Amino acid sequence: MKAVTRGTYEKGWAGPKGETMNICKGCEDLCEYCYGRNSAARRGQKDWDDWGNTRINWKIVNKGYRKQRRRVMFPSTHNINKYNLKPSIIFLNNLLPHVKSLLIVIKPWYPVVKKLCKQFQRFNDKIELRFTITTFQDRWRERFEPYSSPIPERLSSIKLAHKYGFLVSVVVEPFLDADPLVLIRKLIKRNVGPHNIWIGPMNHRRELSRTSDVIFNHSAYLNSIYQPLNLKSIYGRIMAEGWKINFKDGFLNQMRKK
Ligand code: SF4
Repeated sequence: MKAVTRGTYEKGWAGPKGETMNICKGCEDLCEYCYGRNSAARRGQKDWDDWGNTRINWKIVNKGYRKQRRRVMFPSTHNINKYNLKPSIIFLNNLLPHVKSLLIVIKPWYPVVKKLCKQFQRFNDKIELRFTITTFQDRWRERFEPYSSPIPERLSSIKLAHKYGFLVSVVVEPFLDADPLVLIRKLIKRNVGPHNIWIGPMNHRRELSRTSDVIFNHSAYLNSIYQPLNLKSIYGRIMAEGWKINFKDGFLNQMRKK
């Protein structure tokens, strides 16, 4: 298993010379904190409640890619799920021979990961699978990511992807537990290197609370877990463990607030 260079995707994740690609407008997962969903609503491109009515862009799916690309992150404003798996595979088949490294960022559904692993195992030296796992408790997942994959399914997907020789990284963003170290321990136990774990808070909360009732109703809880004191405590405990976890800018900026 070869690793895509750690830190390559640090800033925009696709990296300074990378590209971000999507084949879909909208996302069936309907996460309450989804910034893509919020931005589309703000710009009048798609109503907040209409985000789950997705539209595949077949022009992007079927495009013949010729230009050699350095790095691509796919997707960024939708998940890969049973509804768009087939077009995602067509798109990746067209793209992969022309890309040096590919970062696939998803909230993993086990059958989807299985299909992707089988289909693209031959490219596993240039694909990094980055799974979003925001909590170890399904009760939080159900509130903030109501239509996304259950947490046990996401954790099982790590083992599966390792079995097929893929590099797996995990993004714990936005972390939803008051103490995200419980989840981080579970990830490390599943052989995710601390240097392949990313942690960040929920950004744009004030703006989101104007569109999402769930975010509004959980404001007190969210403010308590993202308050500088709690972030400092999490940071200090991670450092004390000696884990080289990647802190997103939002984490460090909010931690330094007075
Ligand atoms: S999976 Fe990602 S793109 Fe889809 S609704 Fe959730 S945050 Fe938005």
